[in-house]
Order: sequence, then C-alpha cells, then structure tokens
Amino acid sequence: MLIVDAHQDLAWNILTFGRDYTKSALHIRREEQGTLYALYNDDTMLGWPEYQSGQVALIFATLFVTPARFCTGEWDRLCYVDTLQANRMYREQLDVYDRLAGENPEKFQLVRTLAELEKLLKVWKNPSASNEAADLSRDGRPVGLVLSMEGAEGVRHPGELEEWWERGVRLIGPAWGGTRFCGGTLEPGPMTAEGYALLEKMHELGFSLDLSHMDELAALQALDFYPGQIIASHGNALALLKGSESNRHLTDRVIHGILERDGMIGLVPFNAFLKTGWKRGDRREDVHIGPLVSQIDYICQIAGNAHHAGIGSDFDGGFGLQSVPIGIDTIADLQKLAALLSEKGYATDDIAAILGGNWISRLRQVLP
Ligand SMILES: [Zn+2]
Repeated sequence: MLIVDAHQDLAWNILTFGRDYTKSALHIRREEQGTLYALYNDDTMLGWPEYQSGQVALIFATLFVTPARFCTGEWDRLCYVDTLQANRMYREQLDVYDRLAGENPEKFQLVRTLAELEKLLKVWKNPSASNEAADLSRDGRPVGLVLSMEGAEGVRHPGELEEWWERGVRLIGPAWGGTRFCGGTLEPGPMTAEGYALLEKMHELGFSLDLSHMDELAALQALDFYPGQIIASHGNALALLKGSESNRHLTDRVIHGILERDGMIGLVPFNAFLKTGWKRGDRREDVHIGPLVSQIDYICQIAGNAHHAGIGSDFDGGFGLQSVPIGIDTIADLQKLAALLSEKGYATDDIAAILGGNWISRLRQVLP
C-alpha cells in the first residue's frame, strides 16, 4: 500500500542541518553523530531508501520559516523578522526543491499538475506499465513532492499568490504562530481582513486551504468563508488529549467542520500529540503506537467512514526518533499501521485509503 505523507519540512532541514535526503535516515544519523542536531531536532526519520521500503510515494513538502520571536538559538537560521525576510527565505526553499528534484529526477519529482500526479502513480503502482515507467523504476521510484506553504508570512500581498502558484505551491496554511492573517498556535485570535483577502485570492487560483495551526476561532471562520478545498495536513484530535489546553490540536467543532466539507485530516505520530503532558526529552518508551491508531479511528468514527483520515507525520519538523512512538524507527515503519488498523476491523480498501488513497483523491480534485 502506498503512503502519502501530508507534512514534511524537507527544505527547512536541508537548509538548517544540511540533511541530504537522497541518503538513508541511518546514513544521516551517522553523519550527525557528535553534533548537536539531535538536541535541536532529534535523529532524522527520513531518507530516500526509507521512502522506498515504506512505499512513501508522495510527500507534501513545506516551505517553513520561523518567526524570530520563536527562534531558539543560533542554529535556528531560518528565522524572519519581517515579511520581506520571510519572502526571501520561502523563495530560498522553493529553490531547494527545484534543485532536489532537478539534480535527482530518479529520486524526487515535483508534482504540480494532475498529469504529473498520474504519471508518478503509474510508476509506483505498475512499474512495467510503460517503458518510461520501467526505466524510472529500475533503481527505485521517484518520490513526488507537492509544495505546501506553512505560515504564509512570506506572501507580501495576495496578488503575489499567482507567482507562488506558478512556482508550484498548491496548499497554504495561513498560520503557524499567529500571523497577520489569523490567530495560530500559542497566539489565539480570529481571521483578519488581510487573512480574508488572502483566502479570496487563494480560492480564485485554486489553492487547498490547510487549517493546521489555526486557532479554533480562525479555523471556524475560515470554514465558513472558504469555498475551496479544506484540509488539516497535520493535526490531532484534542478530544483524545484529555487535560491538554493547547490550541494546536483540533477541536471537535473544527473536525466536524472539515468533515462536512469533505476535507481531510493528517494524523501526527509525535508523542507530545499522542500523550498529554509528554514533552521532548521525556521517555520515548512511554508512548506506543496505539494512540496514533486511536487518533485515526477517532476521525473515522465521527465521519462514519474511512475517507477523511490520513497521515501528516511532520517527521523532522522539530522532532524525530527520540519523540515518536516505540516501534516507529523511520518513516518506513508507518506501514505497520496497516496491520494495526486491520486488527481493529478496518477493511483493506479503507486501510489503503487512510495510508495514502484519501490524500491522492484530494490531490486529484485540486491539482490543475
Ligand atoms: Zn506545523
């Protein structure tokens, strides 16, 4: 079964730590031994050979930069103080993806159109279907990258969105912390006038709206306002995190809103999002994979079907090996979800939908 992962900050890692994702996660871990990288971001979960063994066909690859007020040290070099600086850093990350795919077309490919998506899926599903596909798959299959912008602070004005669309960005999340568009994680608040203007232009161009990190109030307002596709690429249900007061998680009202709009939710295998009170540095052994399955099941139970849940791992986005459930060593281990969902009574088709099919169907709706 193919996996689609709706959130990985690849460019941020490449620029911040020099991680070379054409190599294996184990290789990158060895290279980083003796550095402080594991302290800042844990050991990597990602690498091309692991994408192959885990059948990770598609990744929503982010443009992500940190507002200076959240910057945690010298190492954290992608911090911006204003829109102009954020704009420059986002562009730098676009260039990173262009280079990654340009220099390693057999390993990574940008997916900007429906035609590119179908071509890629053909290679993954049936390598011998065409000569070209067979050629590509001889040494493995290229991983598709769908570009997604997290935070949106690098957009100087809505008119500029045309340019981002041209460069291949297909999803935008207007929040990380609070932004000038809306309230966000740790910084609650509503949609702003500028936020509504952004959404208007996003819809005109056909972007998918990512509610992850939006404060509940802003998310509900956006659900009322945005006529286009709505998803939460990486977020877990607050209802299963008893005692948590973080506005980073999805409230039932937001979950219901997303489901009513035929949206999608990517569940996150991060211990701090699976067990209330767990923080980076705590014992990894205290969290098993069960709560991740419960998060997936929670969305499916509310929906009454398996068409709205998926994976948004966020691996390497501020956490890695030391902060994920026992049993998950690299991204390839997400395939273990198949057996666990099956034990819970999920049918094979539903499991395939959750691991990747649901994201693929949403991409088919949104890609030009
Ligand atoms: Zn995030």
